[in-house]
Amino acid sequence: MPIEELSSEEVLQRCSMCQTATRSKLATLSLGVGSIVADDLDGRVVRLPPCPKCKAEEFLIRSAAAPTSAPKSYGDLHRLLVDQLHASLVKQGRFDARLAAPALADADPLVVKEFFPDGLKLLAQPFEKLDPAD
Ligand SMILES: [Zn+2]
Repeated sequence: MPIEELSSEEVLQRCSMCQTATRSKLATLSLGVGSIVADDLDGRVVRLPPCPKCKAEEFLIRSAAAPTSAPKSYGDLHRLLVDQLHASLVKQGRFDARLAAPALADADPLVVKEFFPDGLKLLAQPFEKLDPAD
């Protein structure tokens, strides 16, 4: 489920099944998903609320790599948004108490300024373009 916009308080997601756009408060999201068994928790995962229309549930996974300094594709830019969302949630303490505080790195402010001049907004592309080709 791509996200299209990120502010300090909200994220705008678009359902990849039915295209419904949903705004969620960051305060309602948290990191770490899995079963109730701590071993299954994964602090890289952001669970998005189910789509209000089709109930599709999707997850975002923070990338393991360092933030790219020169995003080239929609996939790169989307990754920046996901990583920034993840970092915001960590900062707000929105992670499962059984997790150690996940490592976090904000997106490079210069990159954000250059590629997101109007704020952290990214219109969804056709789904087939979401796969990073390079
Ligand atoms: Zn949906």
